[in-house]
Amino acid sequence: MKRLAIEGGVPVRSTLLPYGHHWIDDGDIAAAVEVLRSDWITQGPKVDEFERKVANYCGVKYAVAVSSGTAALHAACAVAGISTGDEAITTPITFAATANAVVYCGAKPVFADIQEDTLNIDPREIERKLTSRTKAILPVDFAGHPADLEEIMAIARSRKIVVIEDASHALGAEYEGRKIGSLADMTILSFHPVKHITTGEGGMILTDNEEFCEKLKIFRHHGIVREKSDNGSWYYKIYNPGYNFRITDFQCALGISQLNKLNRFIERRREIATKYNAELAEMDEILIPVEDKRVKAVYHIYTIQLKTELLTTGRKEIFKALRAENIGVSVHYMPIHLHPFYQQKFGYKKGDYPTAEEYYERAITLPLFPSMSDEDVKDVIKAVKKVVRRYREQI
Ligand SMILES: *Cc1c(COP(=O)(O)O)cnc(C)c1O
Repeated sequence: MKRLAIEGGVPVRSTLLPYGHHWIDDGDIAAAVEVLRSDWITQGPKVDEFERKVANYCGVKYAVAVSSGTAALHAACAVAGISTGDEAITTPITFAATANAVVYCGAKPVFADIQEDTLNIDPREIERKLTSRTKAILPVDFAGHPADLEEIMAIARSRKIVVIEDASHALGAEYEGRKIGSLADMTILSFHPVKHITTGEGGMILTDNEEFCEKLKIFRHHGIVREKSDNGSWYYKIYNPGYNFRITDFQCALGISQLNKLNRFIERRREIATKYNAELAEMDEILIPVEDKRVKAVYHIYTIQLKTELLTTGRKEIFKALRAENIGVSVHYMPIHLHPFYQQKFGYKKGDYPTAEEYYERAITLPLFPSMSDEDVKDVIKAVKKVVRRYREQI
């Protein structure tokens, strides 16, 4: 058996392979530079064009581009009317921004445990967490696998609860043949460099609801409302202060150029996931991700779970050993309710969400991004097998 790099052996790779990486080509650069050379660099015509194109792609009426996915979540929560005293239900297995956005609005994030297989929020757990104060549900399409939107929408509809889908992982994913974007009341996208397409920083809210769309545009621009009046063109009113959540035109030019490559990016991500599945499924110590028959997942990340009961060591050591092999593994995510703020402010504690916590103890994210070569993919598989075999429980 080959000696592990962490034990002084030769690493599988000589350079670190990151878990995610953007793809920027000359066409992308030219598109951004063209705007930079023009007279208009902040929010302008490219923002409108990008919004229209993403909306068309996702099959939804309206899109509002903002400065980040976090800003998109914040704006969506605000226009959904989430405020002091309210509760909003989300999953503990998400990036902190999902729950933070609820906190920005003065409300309490209430977590509902995840399903063991898809790792998405469990609709039955949502039902258990509903109260008269529940204003919204924020499902997250974890790793690019759409949440159980049909069940979640059914729960929400009968109670006039707003559903804000955090699809930061899931641009291009499908649920029962429909692209995500028009399934929830509002759908959030992020264009951070590790996401499916990037604008550097950026985000978007998709909706079929015209009123939400108008309110979102006001919110992203300080809360400025222009009313028809004869008071002059400088005249506007603020009823509720908004934020400066604008995105720039050169970022949106980049986004438009990236969008043209989205289908190829998704195909490559799915191709890599299929290779991982084929090679890793044969290892008893590893659980590979599932894909429900109702969905097409787009693999923002590829997470495996270690069956630590079959190993002589824990996740932390395996993680370190893989890093030593120069495989840039990561962990998505530490459950939100375990962060100090959420424990101190809302009284959450370890043990509150057992399925999420167990997943977290066993989870490792393997590198996956469209520009990975077949050699990179082989290196990852080789390193995982090498490390897992070394720590295999001898029976
Ligand atoms: C990336 C991400 C966000 C935040 O997006 P930013 O654009 O980085 O602000 C929110 N939710 C989830 C689940 C994400 O992965």
